[in-house]
Amino acid sequence: MPGAFLIFGPPGAGKGTQAPRLAGRLGVPHISTGDMLRAHVKGDTALGREAKGYMDAGDLVPDELVVRMLADRIGEPDAAAGFLLDGFPRNVAQAEALDAMLAERGRPLDCVVVLDVPEEEVVRRISGRLVAQNGRVYHEVYDPPRTPGVDDEEGLPLIRRPDDEPDVVRNRYRNVYLAQTVPVREHYAAAGVREVLVDGTGTTDEVAARLDQALPA
Ligand code: ADP
Ligand code: AMP
Repeated sequence: MPGAFLIFGPPGAGKGTQAPRLAGRLGVPHISTGDMLRAHVKGDTALGREAKGYMDAGDLVPDELVVRMLADRIGEPDAAAGFLLDGFPRNVAQAEALDAMLAERGRPLDCVVVLDVPEEEVVRRISGRLVAQNGRVYHEVYDPPRTPGVDDEEGLPLIRRPDDEPDVVRNRYRNVYLAQTVPVREHYAAAGVREVLVDGTGTTDEVAARLDQALPA
């Protein structure tokens, strides 16, 4: 009996690293609004053209665009029994929009999984992040690809995200995450949604093992 899950944490916490595997275990699709938006930018769609400037600056893409994109995605058949959201909701208005969508489906959010990683560690992680176009994430030092600059599974080139530059990261962490996204956690705590707090420090395997223990399938 899959359900509606949310993985929450600062940029660079390891959400995109852990979520595909966790979603597989929970039997739900991994839905990353960041990955979806990057695909729109890459495909040069109308949404991608509108979103790009906000993303490059580390700001949130306007709610109305992201909420519509997310509503369409969770309306797809593979999400009927649930999903693991990554990167959404990013502010309280988005959380309220999600609550309304879930109320319509007759099933509230089951659980918020919080990956707890301190600021200095997320800065270290983001400064070495490399990504493939398919959403797979690597790190120069902590999780390097087998061949430098090349994705292990599909041989795609690895790039640095334009929003991983240090001054943009500062904006994403301070002005967006702390100011706008942390209140989302408080919103769900006040609503009585179950929260699973997981220590996100240590190796990728250690974090994965903690997630397995905290969320038995
Ligand atoms: P998020 O999706 O939360 O922004 P990512 O999953 O993209 O974060 O991870 C950010 C960077 O940190 C990536 O380069 C990733 O390879 C690296 N990373 C993820 N988990 C760990 C970990 N446990 N230890 C070290 N580096 C990690
Ligand atoms: P992420 O891959 O989750 O780090 O997201 C990368 C960027 O995409 C963010 O810095 C925002 O510009 C944009 N983005 C992703 N998800 C959202 C969202 N839920 N609301 C607004 N903007 C978003």
